Amino acid sequence: MARGGRNKRRMCPTTPDSPDRLPAPGDQPRILIVGAGPTGLGAGYRLKELGHTGFTIVDRSGHIGGLASSFTDDAGFTWDIGGHVMFSHYSYYDRIFDRLMGDDFTLNNRESWVRLMDRWVPYPFQNNVRYLPPEIALECLSGLIKAQTGRGKIASPDHARNFGEFIDAVFGEGIARVFMRPYNFKVWAHEPEMLNKAWIGERVATLDIDRALRNVVLQKDDFGWGPNNQFKFPLFGGTGEFYRRFGPVLEGHVQLNRSLVSIDVDRKVASFADGTGEPFDHLLSAVPLDVLCTKILTGEVPARVREAAARLLHSSAHMVGIGIRRPCPSTKSWMYFPEDNCPFYRVTYLSNYSPNMTPDKDRCYSLLCETSESEFKPVNRDTIVEETIQGLENAGLLEPGERRDIISTWHHRADYAYPTPSVDRDEILSQVIPWLEQRGIHSRGRFGMWKYEVSNTDHTLMQGVEWVNHLFLGEPETTIGLRYQATGDGLDGAVHERARVAGSGEKRALHAATDPIPTPGDIDEAHLSEEELGITNRP
Ligand SMILES: Cc1cc2nc3c(=O)[nH]c(=O)nc-3n(C[C@H](O)[C@H](O)[C@H](O)COP(=O)(O)OP(=O)(O)OC[C@H]3O[C@@H](n4cnc5c(N)ncnc54)[C@H](O)[C@@H]3O)c2cc1C
Repeated sequence: MARGGRNKRRMCPTTPDSPDRLPAPGDQPRILIVGAGPTGLGAGYRLKELGHTGFTIVDRSGHIGGLASSFTDDAGFTWDIGGHVMFSHYSYYDRIFDRLMGDDFTLNNRESWVRLMDRWVPYPFQNNVRYLPPEIALECLSGLIKAQTGRGKIASPDHARNFGEFIDAVFGEGIARVFMRPYNFKVWAHEPEMLNKAWIGERVATLDIDRALRNVVLQKDDFGWGPNNQFKFPLFGGTGEFYRRFGPVLEGHVQLNRSLVSIDVDRKVASFADGTGEPFDHLLSAVPLDVLCTKILTGEVPARVREAAARLLHSSAHMVGIGIRRPCPSTKSWMYFPEDNCPFYRVTYLSNYSPNMTPDKDRCYSLLCETSESEFKPVNRDTIVEETIQGLENAGLLEPGERRDIISTWHHRADYAYPTPSVDRDEILSQVIPWLEQRGIHSRGRFGMWKYEVSNTDHTLMQGVEWVNHLFLGEPETTIGLRYQATGDGLDGAVHERARVAGSGEKRALHAATDPIPTPGDIDEAHLSEEELGITNRP
């Protein structure tokens, strides 16, 4: 890990860039933003940059940042709601980060591993099967070759009807059995058959079988990470520090501890738990879309809209932080756990991201462990902390006797953690989103748009920015149609494309939906956000 900041940058200003274009004075629509997470903050930042003053951001919690918030416990350990790795796809996002964070960040080398069969397998899994016992490596390779030559259980990714079949078609039965299927169930808390395959891109994923073979025969390591695969992290205060720094920029616009309880869609009035009401012309909502449609909207709402939204699936997640008084034993960033000897799907050495994540950088380290939950995968909230510690021992992360050096445990349950890209998700969105748009209600963000593939912090912040650009400058919102594409090397690139089924129902957007793929976004070569799914295959 290196201290960030190659160039001296301006520190923490109180205003964004000079306005690009000001709306006509006295002609500003009333804008209400619900949710002070990255989506709402991105929108607010851009509105301020454009010189728009008539907007309010409300959040029911007492702090800004949403799921990208961080918390420091009594022992002095700082925790995120899940290991947040910032792989930005956008130069606009990078500029905001530079402006708000200055030099206050670290630059970290990614080092990710898979733990199974009592050993560490470097990531990506399919290129490193030589680390497995020989008979399992053979099973994986043979399945991969069959799948990639059309002789597998599913003839090709095109024939796959869902994510489960896609896994079989791309990786073959061996890798599916050993890693992809168990791992994905642990992450999503839903069987892979319940997920669609569109969220990873519709194009055929071709894995390099020569490379996989060569690595086994020649006993070569093939890591998907290294010095060129770096990510930034706030020097102090965890992931949430970046979002906290929007506070002074948006001063006077943010109202915390204010919970939206209803929206009268006919009168365009929002009502809050404190008994107040607010009329709006445009409302940006980062509230989970199912909650918005089934519990918050009042007035003439068609049953089909409510029923469709109610079919959206999501998973919850338990974040368990373990603070240990020992020097950190590893340089790893994060690790994936497909096996059932531990409850978590991923563990992050959070203290490796910044020296200020523990009370003493030389004597303490911290592990952040994530366990998913759903009706198909229940979790005992009372015992999850103990199960996590036991799991760390089973998986070889905690050495025998190390348990007594645990000086802090932290537990946070995120009710809405992963928006499940279910098989009927896009059909649901195509019914719900256009109807809302026509009423000035714009649902965006991780759970507002429910598109996992564009729900990392950079995507969601930019969903807010692009929404403002669409409203005032008529620009298309390319992110909510972002689609990953396969390259010859596996799933390794992204194109920004207007989604054909999801997104805005406005004329301009519908027109855009039928256009050919527009110019890619700010940054051509993009990191995949699906790190945790074990599907990336970076050279
Ligand atoms: C386990 C996990 C791991 C992640 N890892 C990464 C990662 O590695 N990299 C990355 O870039 N991103 C990661 N993310 C995603 C990141 O956290 C999200 O992109 C981001 O927080 C979404 O922002 P948002 O504004 O859309 O929604 P949220 O952050 O969910 O914010 C929504 C806000 O709306 C408020 N709200 C809800 N209902 C109401 C109401 N009725 N009234 C008023 N306010 C309301 C909430 O309090 C909340 O503050 C991860 C997320 C999770 C859960």
